Amino acid sequence: MRDVRALPKAHLHVHLESTVRPQTVRELGGTPEPGKAFNNFREFGDERAKVRDLLRTPEHFRRIAVEFCEDEAAQGTRYVEVTFTAASHGERVGEPEMPLEAVLDGLAEGGGRYGIEWRVLLDHSRRRPLERFWRTFKLASRYDRVVGIGLAGDESHPLAPFAEVIEAARDAGLHLVHHAGEAAGAASIREALDVGHAERLGHGIRVIDDPGVVAEVRERRIPLEVCPTSNVLLGFVPSLAAHPLPRLVEAGLLVTVNTDGETELAAEYARLGEVFGYGDAELAELARTSIDASFAPEEVKTRLRAEVDAWLSSPS
Ligand SMILES: [Zn+2]
Repeated sequence: MRDVRALPKAHLHVHLESTVRPQTVRELGGTPEPGKAFNNFREFGDERAKVRDLLRTPEHFRRIAVEFCEDEAAQGTRYVEVTFTAASHGERVGEPEMPLEAVLDGLAEGGGRYGIEWRVLLDHSRRRPLERFWRTFKLASRYDRVVGIGLAGDESHPLAPFAEVIEAARDAGLHLVHHAGEAAGAASIREALDVGHAERLGHGIRVIDDPGVVAEVRERRIPLEVCPTSNVLLGFVPSLAAHPLPRLVEAGLLVTVNTDGETELAAEYARLGEVFGYGDAELAELARTSIDASFAPEEVKTRLRAEVDAWLSSPS
């Protein structure tokens, strides 16, 4: 087996706020609880809110972005699309643009220093007001490195109330990526495609419940951002061994491996190797899919694909 940390990977589903280092949480006055399992989605949200509330100054936001780049580089992430809930932070600290601008500064610094290509996606919780999603769209339109927006959070809240913003984002050339099919069933995926115009699905694992939706997602070549350990920690899947990832791959779907910010990416690939018996060729194929499914410029994709090939032909 080759060192999976050296396998070049694209990381497409990771929430910046979930990646804050335990040491940084402590230094900002919080109590870190890494690798914690949650009893339900609300408990998870409450835990995240505690960390979020520690972030107040430009230096805090810049710092977590720089540290994120360093930590991702150590995992062999070569290209990342990091999700940030910019409008929510802006409202909380009373400075609408500051958190995003500080994060963009930090990513520019960290990306350069640690050799990572990066883009940003802005998410909005479905439980929160429509006006904030408009502000999210407006923020996203203003910065080149922000390439898309999407809806996250409790999937029992429908997408339809957000349709106007979604249309505006599409017209503005922003990519659309929604969480769907994580807690809610395959119908939430159809809604993300039909109402949300999703180009990728955050999680999407419940697609497996409905062969008709599986066929549609396969034919439309919509990649899934699968986050196996996160699904286990949040209680959506009982164990890694019971995770549908192999069945999604066998169904011919475009499966990418991600952390959601709940674990480390190379460790996640390694666990898939152990639990599902994937060898280097299968792990390299998952890495290739992550590159193909990204919104990276074509020249970045070409370079990273060549690096994956080089990894696979290196001595093991
Ligand atoms: Zn997520």
